[in-house]
Amino acid sequence: MIMPEAQAIQQSSSTRSLDMDIQYVKGVGPRLAGTLGKLDIFSVRDLLYHFPRRHEDRTRFAKVSSLAHGETATILGTVLTADNVQTRGRLVLTKVAVDDGSGVVALTWFNQKWRKDQFLKLKGREIIAYGTIAAGRWGVEIANPEWEPYSENADPLSSGRVVPVYPLTEGLFQSQVRKVIAGVVDAYAPLVGEVLPEDVRNRLDLMDIGQALHNIHFPESEVALQAARKRLVFEELFLLQLALALRKRGMEAPGNGITFTIPDNFADELRQVLPFELTGAQKRVIKEIAADMARPTCMNRLLQGDVGSGKTAVALAAMLIAVRNGYQAALMAPTEILAEQHYLGISRMLENLGVLEISVDLLKGSLRSKQRQEVIERIASGQTKIAIGTHALIQEGVGFRKLGLVIVDEQHRFGVLQRAALMDKGLTPDILVMTATPIPRTLTLTIYGDLDVSIIDELPPGRKPIRTHWKQVGERKKVYKALRTLIDQGRQAYVVCPLIEESEKLQVRAASELAEFLQAEMFPDLKIGLLHGQMKTDEKDAIMKSFRAGEIHILVSTTVIEVGVDVANATCMVIEDADRFGLAQLHQLRGRVGRGDEQSFCVMICEGNSQDSIKRMQVMSSTNDGFAIAEEDLKLRGPGEFYGTRQSGVPGFKIADIFNDIPILELAREEAFALVEKDPNLKAPAFKALRSDLLKKYEAFQLAVVS
Ligand code: ADP
Ligand code: MG
Repeated sequence: MIMPEAQAIQQSSSTRSLDMDIQYVKGVGPRLAGTLGKLDIFSVRDLLYHFPRRHEDRTRFAKVSSLAHGETATILGTVLTADNVQTRGRLVLTKVAVDDGSGVVALTWFNQKWRKDQFLKLKGREIIAYGTIAAGRWGVEIANPEWEPYSENADPLSSGRVVPVYPLTEGLFQSQVRKVIAGVVDAYAPLVGEVLPEDVRNRLDLMDIGQALHNIHFPESEVALQAARKRLVFEELFLLQLALALRKRGMEAPGNGITFTIPDNFADELRQVLPFELTGAQKRVIKEIAADMARPTCMNRLLQGDVGSGKTAVALAAMLIAVRNGYQAALMAPTEILAEQHYLGISRMLENLGVLEISVDLLKGSLRSKQRQEVIERIASGQTKIAIGTHALIQEGVGFRKLGLVIVDEQHRFGVLQRAALMDKGLTPDILVMTATPIPRTLTLTIYGDLDVSIIDELPPGRKPIRTHWKQVGERKKVYKALRTLIDQGRQAYVVCPLIEESEKLQVRAASELAEFLQAEMFPDLKIGLLHGQMKTDEKDAIMKSFRAGEIHILVSTTVIEVGVDVANATCMVIEDADRFGLAQLHQLRGRVGRGDEQSFCVMICEGNSQDSIKRMQVMSSTNDGFAIAEEDLKLRGPGEFYGTRQSGVPGFKIADIFNDIPILELAREEAFALVEKDPNLKAPAFKALRSDLLKKYEAFQLAVVS
């Protein structure tokens, strides 16, 4: 009798499926399979898609005698000897001398004593080593090299050709992986189905999948390797863009959205309301938004504009359209201070219409329960046309009578989930998300890739670029003297103290002490105000009110003023311990000044204790351009901060590098969006494989594709 298990094994090994467990692959077995499992390799498909980290041209090697400091190189030489040296820092340094006939190079490792014996056993044998060359007083060294034994005759996969170098794990060797993958590529690459539509492949001249898999592992030439990489990168990004295009379609809820009519006198009314002429960029962006609103689908638009570019006016224009169509609009801000400020600004502008015919209400935490109830009732009855508040406005189930537009200020991502929650309540308002931190192009094409994007790329006229200076702690007195001069000229200033991660209490104390010090020691004749997150809303309101009125000369604050605060007469900002902030945050903070016609200043005080912080200070001192700063920020912090943590639902990439592959990303986007336009459910039989790959890979997107 055959055991059921054995039967299963027999079947799976005979059917040659891509899903087959790797332990049945020739030359693998349970032990190696276990090791490969540590790299998340379980099936034949996983092996095929375990791409090399890099390739090494082993048709020629660098000569030790001509190695230059700082270059990366691969050398081939004979192990002479190995030794351990005790360093002054009580570390053990292993040095292995390798001779290639032209000279001797030392391979070095710290605190890996056992390497001495490992290499002594290889004495007289040839090895290959790869790494960054350090040429110094003691000769040529390679610290922590990648290396492997070399034997021309024994292993044709590892010599005399361009050789793949794979990510490894403990107990796994390059030569082993090469052998297993070479076998799998030969036997199974032809079984991988083509998912890319043929016309796309032809148009963009992309290699077919079998060839691509072959060449990404064991390239026939450098050109073939590049072509293979391009094809595989394209496929990854194409799937992402398809997922985004489909999700976007889902969010637009065709047919359910509101078709707003743009009133005939819209432009006149807007002119009447706004105390200034719109900039060209504001006008363009308002047009884009109005066009969205006039369509029967739901708007999902991201409005980007650098700090001070005038997003509020654009928001007001959109709200006017909604209100004039008999709908309500909700404007949500991340903080109460900001909500309050929007409320004041927007009410003031709408007063220009004469009578207060458009009623604006502010729903804030500090309202007493009776007032709060009244506001909620007004919103529910439809009497409130524009409701302003924090994000609680929508989350806490405040009922609107006829909600047509939701504007989210200063938040990157008004989540897909929130949109879905609104839809569940039967609400399909248009949504406009405004962000003041410009988003690098890479990200608008990926994690924000399901939103339409409008950009205000122009500041209101007459703005003078903010002058930014970096000062050492020892220069603080001088900074205060300069501050005094500005205040004598009638200006106001912010002094910002950093967030203290460990404790909000400590942070509040630091801010309070600084305010006391400034009041008592530096500016006894001036009025110093204090603002921090632990104050009650009423107290915060009172402080902001008197700062706006010009009664407070210097406002000492924690980062609660980070976003959106708008007081044009405040032209100077001093940031204490500036290196404790990231670039995006510094740029946001600085954006609180430079909002009027007067020359504004930003002074960052810190020592600059690391390369990173020095770089940040330099970037801030050299540019006011939010987009440039965002790019630098992304470079300094790396993509990890942006992916994953934000629950974007975008899986990691195996081969695409979305920072360097932007041209392919754009191509993929164009093709994917065009395809979804043509065949929104990917119904055509030719898309069968594509569709099933897509749904599997982007399960988290919950794509609603009908078959
Ligand atoms: P942000 O984009 O940072 O939210 P705001 O909407 O707060 O910018 O606008 C910044 C300042 O610029 C405000 O004081 C606003 O009144 C002013 N402003 C906006 N647009 C214009 C314009 N077209 N002309 C002159 N001033 C403007
Ligand atoms: Mg704003």
